[in-house]
Amino acid sequence: MSNETTEDAAALCSDYQMNTYARTATIVRGKGSRVFNPKGNQYLDFTSGISVVNLGHAHPAVVEAIKAQAETIVHTSNLFYSEPVGRLARKLHEVGLGGKCFLCNSGAEANEAMIKLARLWGSRNGGRYEVVCMRNSFHGRTLATLSATGQSKVQKGFEPLMPGFAFATFNDLESVKAAVTDKTAAVLIECVQGEGGVVPATDEFVKGVRALCDEKGLLMLCDEIQCGMGRTGKLWAFEHYGVKPDAFTSAKALGGGLPLGALVASPALSDVFGPGDHGSTFGGNPVACAASLAVFKVYEEEKVVEHAAEYGELFRRGLRQFVEKYDQLLEVRGMGLLLGLVLKEPRAGELLDELRNGGLLACKAGDSVVRFLPPLNLTDADLEEGLEMIGDALDILFGDDAG
Ligand SMILES: *Cc1c(COP(=O)(O)O)cnc(C)c1O
Repeated sequence: MSNETTEDAAALCSDYQMNTYARTATIVRGKGSRVFNPKGNQYLDFTSGISVVNLGHAHPAVVEAIKAQAETIVHTSNLFYSEPVGRLARKLHEVGLGGKCFLCNSGAEANEAMIKLARLWGSRNGGRYEVVCMRNSFHGRTLATLSATGQSKVQKGFEPLMPGFAFATFNDLESVKAAVTDKTAAVLIECVQGEGGVVPATDEFVKGVRALCDEKGLLMLCDEIQCGMGRTGKLWAFEHYGVKPDAFTSAKALGGGLPLGALVASPALSDVFGPGDHGSTFGGNPVACAASLAVFKVYEEEKVVEHAAEYGELFRRGLRQFVEKYDQLLEVRGMGLLLGLVLKEPRAGELLDELRNGGLLACKAGDSVVRFLPPLNLTDADLEEGLEMIGDALDILFGDDAG
């Protein structure tokens, strides 16, 4: 393929886009686990576009579904019924909570819908509206979702924050109990905090939150936007804990690379919203829904989630060897293929730079954690090459000859 870029993407984006992202490289195209820069040099992509292209770049089944739907109809609006939209809703009923969904375009929008659902439900159940959220969580960048996010770095300067959120400490059930008042409608958790440092919830915590919600008549809400869609080795991360939330949100990998989000509810919450209570012009776009259906089909046919569980274990074992070798590393955290290599000092940025120089793309999760999000269908060769590149980068930074 010779569609080289003829303009400098870095200059264009820097000059004409607001300065909200710290970007590093220019990507022209991708295939499977690889992406290519304008010179044609390849990187092994262990970001998957921040856990979005979980089947790798340009998966043929996803590309085919997008093309076919784009040729049929791209947008109908929610004034009309559309088959791919309805089929995705049925899929989410089957693999979700046995209830109905609301479709939208992003993670923040899905969480907005879930917060509105909790408030509407609460207003009809004792006039309650408060959502107990966790410190170090991440739920999005809109005003409501950044107010629900337990990290001051996303809130600073945007005050006054939206009222109606209380905070508890993740993995500390007593602190959740202490945060519940007669105004509490729901408790919101990520079963694995992604942006907050790749921190899995303990079994006692998730089961305890479920029991507390049952006891007090609260909704248990899960944000599965990063840890869902097979990333942790189960389709939804809450499955690891043997509990079901009352509702959860999905986005990121749900659309196979296209913008798609969903609020997925249990039957008891499926009819809280009525006509006019919520909406979205683009939400449940037919092309995004067709892509999502293709993703679910490949997951089933190729046992992708099982593969993620198996390769997550292999990857974790490889990373653990580095922790034993280098005193600068603290531990490996995470679940499945959502893994964090934790440094003792805030040098994640340096390690990312070194990895990229060696041809491997990864993410940060805070200043001390390098987060790996490889495609869920990565091969033995991908894993071997990735571990080798990580070993080389660690050697340059922390080896005996490091400066
Ligand atoms: C990425 C993310 C969001 C926000 O999703 P957007 O699509 O960027 O709005 C919300 N919650 C979690 C856990 C995420 O990882």
